Amino acid sequence: MEKYLFFLKINKCKLYILFFHFKIMKKEALIIVDYQNDFAHPEWSLYVQWWETILPFINNLIQEVKSRSGIIITSQDWHPENHISFASTFWLDDFTPKDWEIKWPKHCVENTWWAEFLDGFHSHWIDRKVLKWNKQDIDSYSSFGWIEKATWSTLDTILKSYNTQVLHIVWLATEYCDYTTVEDAIKLWYEVIVHTRGIKAVNVNPHDGIIAISKMNQMGAKILP
Ligand SMILES: [Zn+2]
Repeated sequence: MEKYLFFLKINKCKLYILFFHFKIMKKEALIIVDYQNDFAHPEWSLYVQWWETILPFINNLIQEVKSRSGIIITSQDWHPENHISFASTFWLDDFTPKDWEIKWPKHCVENTWWAEFLDGFHSHWIDRKVLKWNKQDIDSYSSFGWIEKATWSTLDTILKSYNTQVLHIVWLATEYCDYTTVEDAIKLWYEVIVHTRGIKAVNVNPHDGIIAISKMNQMGAKILP
C-alpha cells in the first residue's frame, strides 16, 4: 500500500510540474506578412528579390511554432481596383487624394490571383488570415492596420482571443510591412521576435533593410540571426 502511495505522490509531483510548465509557457504566434504573388515575381508590381531563399526557413519555423502549440497567421494586402495607395488612382477625375503619399504600382487587387498566397509553403498550417485593406481610402503597411486612426485590422483581436504574448515576424518586406507591424506590436505590448533569416528588404536605398532591423532592435524587438 505504501508503495502505491509513494507512486501516487511522485505522479502528483509530475502533474504539478506539468501544470506549472504550461502555466509559464507563453502563447506564441507566427505572423507571416503578405505572402502574396505580387511580391514574388520579377516582372510583377512589387518584386522583392531573393524571396525564395527564405521560404525553407519559414516552413521550418511554422512547424517549430506549431510544435509549441503556437498559432500561424498570415496577413494579405487586399485592395480595391482604385485603392488610394495606387499611383494610377491619383489620375482618376473623381478622386481627390488626402494626406497620402501615393507611389505604388497597382498591386494585390482583391479577388485576383496576384493577391493570392504563393505556392510552396505549408499553407495547410495556417490558422487565421488577416486582410488589409479592402476600402478605397484606407491603407496600412502594418498587419495591425492603422492604429493611430483606429482603422484596425482583425489581427489584434485574433491574437487576444488566443491569449498570445509572443509574436514571431517573417516575410516581406523588412523596411515596410515588417517594420510597421513590429512597431505596432510593441506599442500593443507584445513580445516581438524578428527572424532575419525569414525577412527580405526591397532596399530602394541600399541600406534600408539594415537600418530598419536596427530600429526594430532599438524599439525592443528581439532580432534573431
Ligand atoms: Zn498595398
